[in-house]
Amino acid sequence: MPDPNTPAPRAGEPARITCSCPVCGAMTLPADAFDLVVCASDPSRSFYQFTCPTCSGLVTKQASERVVTGLSARGVRVSSLPMEAMEVHVGPVLTMDDLLDLSIALSEQDVVAALTATS
Ligand SMILES: [Zn+2]
Repeated sequence: MPDPNTPAPRAGEPARITCSCPVCGAMTLPADAFDLVVCASDPSRSFYQFTCPTCSGLVTKQASERVVTGLSARGVRVSSLPMEAMEVHVGPVLTMDDLLDLSIALSEQDVVAALTATS
């Protein structure tokens, strides 16, 4: 978890935030190394992420309201969780076989012509 108590930077100095990679351990990175995604309707879905400069792994962690406040105050980019992420999906999961069947069906000109003729 980033340390929201890290002092704010002086003017012209980039903010540094203490965080940890599950592989490499604790480190301090500049604020622009982080992305913060906030979900206003469900704060438990807010998260932040950064790419570890040592192992190149993408580290993603849940962001509590305290962490959101701390990261925002230090100039971390903030974006909103896309509405698509809140959609409820029902029905069977699309499988690779479904995609192959669709690809084959679309490659047959007669099927495509029949579909476009009826619409
Ligand atoms: Zn790492």
